Amino acid sequence: MNAPSSAIESVLVENRVFPPSEAVQKNARISGMPAYEALCAEAQKDYEGYWARLARENVVWSKPFTQVLDESNPPFYRWFADGELNASANCLDKHMGTAVEHKTAIIFEADDGQVTKVTYRELLQRVAQFANGLKSLGIQKGDRVLIYMPMTIEGVVAMQACARIGATHSVVFGGFSAKAVQERIVDVGASAVITSNFQMRGGKELPLKAIVDEALAMGGCEAVKHVLVYERTATACKMVAGRDITFTALLNGQSTECPPVAVGAEHPLFILYTSGSTGKPKGVQHSTGGYMLWARQTVNWTFDMKDSDVFWCTADIGWITGHTYVAYGPLAAGATQIVFEGVPTFPNAGRFWQMIERHGCTVFYTAPTAIRSLIKAAESDEKVHPKNWNLSSLRILGSVGEPINPEAWMWYYKNIGGERCPIVDTFWQTENGGHMVTPLPGATPLVPGSCTLPLPGITAAIVDESGNDMPNGAGGILVVKKPWPSMIRNIWGDPERFKKSYFPEELKGYYLAGDGAVRSEDRGYFRITGRIDDVLNVSGHRMGTMEIESALVAKTDLVAEAAVVGRPDDLTGEAICAFVVLKRPVPTGEEAKALANELRNWVAKEIGPIAKPKDIRFGENLPKTRSGKIMRRLLRSIAKGESITQDTSTLENPAILEQLAKTN
Ligand code: ATP
Ligand code: MG
Repeated sequence: MNAPSSAIESVLVENRVFPPSEAVQKNARISGMPAYEALCAEAQKDYEGYWARLARENVVWSKPFTQVLDESNPPFYRWFADGELNASANCLDKHMGTAVEHKTAIIFEADDGQVTKVTYRELLQRVAQFANGLKSLGIQKGDRVLIYMPMTIEGVVAMQACARIGATHSVVFGGFSAKAVQERIVDVGASAVITSNFQMRGGKELPLKAIVDEALAMGGCEAVKHVLVYERTATACKMVAGRDITFTALLNGQSTECPPVAVGAEHPLFILYTSGSTGKPKGVQHSTGGYMLWARQTVNWTFDMKDSDVFWCTADIGWITGHTYVAYGPLAAGATQIVFEGVPTFPNAGRFWQMIERHGCTVFYTAPTAIRSLIKAAESDEKVHPKNWNLSSLRILGSVGEPINPEAWMWYYKNIGGERCPIVDTFWQTENGGHMVTPLPGATPLVPGSCTLPLPGITAAIVDESGNDMPNGAGGILVVKKPWPSMIRNIWGDPERFKKSYFPEELKGYYLAGDGAVRSEDRGYFRITGRIDDVLNVSGHRMGTMEIESALVAKTDLVAEAAVVGRPDDLTGEAICAFVVLKRPVPTGEEAKALANELRNWVAKEIGPIAKPKDIRFGENLPKTRSGKIMRRLLRSIAKGESITQDTSTLENPAILEQLAKTN
């Protein structure tokens, strides 16, 4: 662990505050700060009692639990361990016979704009039928099934069907290479793969099944007995006799009834790999009971979900956000949600705004990377500016995945939310299962760029490298002091790495998130300052990367996106290098020099001379994970002039590395 030895100085001061409007607060599930504080007090007074109450209210148990938290073998915590349930029954069966039964569960919009809707009843039938298909192949409780599917109703059905029979799924994003698929098949020991012949993205038909074939041919995948193939398009793909089966053949004659298999609360619902921003992805193992509790509870709290809402989380099911806030949470909450197959820039960069208008979306949840790229698009082309669409249906906006720079926050607030919609900036990780630190739309006064306060019961704190609490205003390491129900249970098959990565001894047994953060002096609000491995030390001043990046992005006439890293420097210990994407073509020669100087002076003025980047490099883009996060670890190598030898399996755009290495 590369922990700061002293406080990280926080230099970014944000004075804008947006209290919840009366309209939003009035009918909110958590209305006003006293309601939030009452829940926090309840959790503090009787921690286990609080979680037990939420678990009884949010989850349907086929066998009620009598134990709450089992701490006998830390950090392998167990929650509600003698209880039994089924995740799919908690999303579907429980709505039958209620007003939700015939409500639309999913509004699916395909890449080409075609819309399909399914009700909760229909979804249950499809899941049950698919589950029977899985059973007919001999797949059963405890088996691992790898899912490599496009964003489709069928993708959600596949996940739910695995859950229904107690098989543990592991979803791999449909953009990953054969090598990444093979590694995950081997790591989880999958006995079946669910895929699609092709996927449609941006008007193009891209192969999926062929990539699975390639992965299986790489070896080590002998445990895979079946490959299930969804016929997304009419184009044929190669089928291996005896191993491969189409969805049509699989489902033919299968009953639409399938009783859900009860599993213990600790049964692994899924294994999901992290994004790989800071290193080789980790296979995060989640539980069933604690996970389902938090998936449903956070949908209701953070998004204040109402019967009339039309929810849209733009994340792919290949990410944790697409698990908790597409495949499980909204269904457990009985919400209507939009599932989108395509990309935000096809047929043009107005697609999201057009879809919000078309479907009357009320709660919209996306990532800063999407917001930043759509700002850039809107500012260079009037035709795709959100003002061209009627976005008045929106009532709540959300952000997830990276810190959102205050200037991007303001643009989102004004241009998408019409200065009417609260923005919930939700901090959480694959390992967390659900939201951790986030505003509540009807309670928390918002500060741009801040994820504000922990949800009730989440004991997030900021400590030094020995686990001592830091005062407000002084930054440090973000930890969670007590176990919580939806936390990671293990790194699949690697308990040693699990202990070392998340529960280092020097931190008193606290969960280590790996992010640096600071709490504001006035409100105690959390702000993420960057990954702890990315902390800069310039002449003894410790700074988070986020501060300098936000200052650069605040130069709104020029800068679309920025990433900051350090490189060794004889004079200052570490020198700041900024990689900048402009809202204009990549400059060269004298123009580049002049712009770099302008930006240096700008940062000096915004933060102080100490934060002035020594190097500024311009590029068309930044290296990002396929989930859209900036990979600063690669930029660190480029800044040092090293060649890249690290794991790049989750890198979206390898070509950018060369471009950035060349420019100066
Ligand atoms: P890896 O763990 O493999 O390096 P990763 O950390 O990017 O990858 P994820 O679990 O997808 O994998 O992302 C979690 C991280 O995303 C957090 O640790 C944090 O750095 C960042 N993050 C997510 N939401 C927010 C947010 N609202 N504000 C700030 N940072 C966020
Ligand atoms: Mg991480």
